Amino acid sequence: MIFRQLFDQQSSTYTYLLADGATGEAVLIDPVFEQVRRDTALIEELQLRLLYTIDTHVHADHVTGAWMHKQRAGSQIAISAASGAEGADRYLTHGDFCPFGARYLSVRATPGHTSGCICLVLDDESMAFTGDCLLIRGTGRTDFQHGDPHAMFRAIHHQIFTLPETCLLYPAHDYRGLTVTSVGEERRFNPRLGGELCEDDFTGYMTNLGLPHPKQIDIAVPANLKCGFAACDPSRMAEPSWAPLSYTFAGIWEINAQWLEENLRAVQIVDVREPDEFNGPLGRIPEARLISLGELAQRAGELGQDRPIVTVCRAGGRSAQATAILRRSGFEAVANLAGGMLRWRAEGRVVENGSV
Ligand code: FE
Repeated sequence: MIFRQLFDQQSSTYTYLLADGATGEAVLIDPVFEQVRRDTALIEELQLRLLYTIDTHVHADHVTGAWMHKQRAGSQIAISAASGAEGADRYLTHGDFCPFGARYLSVRATPGHTSGCICLVLDDESMAFTGDCLLIRGTGRTDFQHGDPHAMFRAIHHQIFTLPETCLLYPAHDYRGLTVTSVGEERRFNPRLGGELCEDDFTGYMTNLGLPHPKQIDIAVPANLKCGFAACDPSRMAEPSWAPLSYTFAGIWEINAQWLEENLRAVQIVDVREPDEFNGPLGRIPEARLISLGELAQRAGELGQDRPIVTVCRAGGRSAQATAILRRSGFEAVANLAGGMLRWRAEGRVVENGSV
């Protein structure tokens, strides 16, 4: 099985990617709208196929990426029937299964943070995804969205603490950088409801938290009640249109080499190798100008804002760094030639000054 824990810094949200390594079928738990491009790049690089997204509840602190993933990957949207959300493809209830390849997640209703919260338990009970119900040494809040500390206490004790002691628990958030816990640990050490603490202790704790109103709630909840449908300005998620580009999990835009070969004069090609390489046997791309990587930050002003920039080097590594330098220098339309001159030549593309 493939498993990745992804983090959104803005909302401190964890998104989880699970996939069956044999079939490539994948599931995303709690995707974040602003991270759809990143998550898509990872799914593509790992050669997976996203079957569906599952939201553990209607979030108040970020907009779900469910609808945007559906637009891009054709994935289905799953959320609990009790969430009250519109526009999902699948409405989950307690005891349902969410299969991916030969593996599956089972659904447990765990109301308390919201009335529609669910936890997802992996088939062998080695890991569970607790949403905003049980957090690491904490719990989700219970003071809005039909929150109910009594329901939460019972959900945690009956649906989570009944899992094997060694079952790893992955929450939807952590605000201190903690990443994972286990059933045994939380039963003993959770300061709100672990050890000998009873339901009254818990409700006393929860009604006196005095937390501030979530910043994003007025935007996030209405959007999430529609599964993130057209949640934000679509231009924020628009792809650059000046050339066929792809986005990598490393955070770099890469240009399609075929398009570049056919449009050499539509862009500024910046070769960031050293002069002896630029004049060496690998040759160079026609129209390319030499600005070595070490000089790029100082000499960026020599480049124009009128045409997009494509960076090139021997194998595509230095030129990837060059895209970051150029962005810092105020150039928005910048892309890397992945694979550099080595791949360009291997593909038999046009070269100037090269030896055969
Ligand atoms: Fe929440």
